[in-house]
Amino acid sequence: MIKIGVLPFNPFQENTYVVSDHTGECVVIDAGNYSVREDNALTNYIHDAGLRPVMAINTHGHVDHILGVDYVKRTFGVPFALHGDDRFLVESAPQHGALYGFDVKSVPEVEIDLKGRSEVTFGDTVLKVIHTPGHTPGHVAFYEEKEKILFTGDTLFRESIGRTDLPGGDYSWIMKSILEKLIPLGDEVRFYPGHGPQSTIGHETLYNPFVVEVINGEVKC
Ligand SMILES: [Zn+2]
Repeated sequence: MIKIGVLPFNPFQENTYVVSDHTGECVVIDAGNYSVREDNALTNYIHDAGLRPVMAINTHGHVDHILGVDYVKRTFGVPFALHGDDRFLVESAPQHGALYGFDVKSVPEVEIDLKGRSEVTFGDTVLKVIHTPGHTPGHVAFYEEKEKILFTGDTLFRESIGRTDLPGGDYSWIMKSILEKLIPLGDEVRFYPGHGPQSTIGHETLYNPFVVEVINGEVKC
């Protein structure tokens, strides 16, 4: 059984996930901790649960998702994994962040390129890496096949989808990613998005207006 800690951080209420298994190893997905208080909340969660982080991994490179990555790297001595096509977003995070009032002091170095990598592992757990471009060019989802748990980042939300009007975004691509790569994983798959509450793929095929209008042929993508 994998265990998922959900920690909404920073003014964008970005969901940082600490995913662990029975071995005590864990990964931190989309570390968005921004204040000392949030840094402490993340560290306390990890310490209280007796976990050992092995990697910081990201669904994409937007500033609200990387604010805490450098802290995680420094505190736990772990590498950072990101799809290379989102490297430009991490590198421009100080300028991009300033537009939203974030003071990005340090840009985390990317040690592991998820481009062309089919999975990442920790403990006895395998997370499949699924390239889901559209919100950003290098966006990926992480999928734990045995328990059917999916981390969708900002591609798919409960009853919504990610923005495609930001640099590198593309509506047609995000819909293709959702319809061809995420929906086929199956109705029973539970997903944890980058913002807001969890949902299931089945729920989205019925109630997500962006998905439903394409499935019904009302909108072309
Ligand atoms: Zn984003």
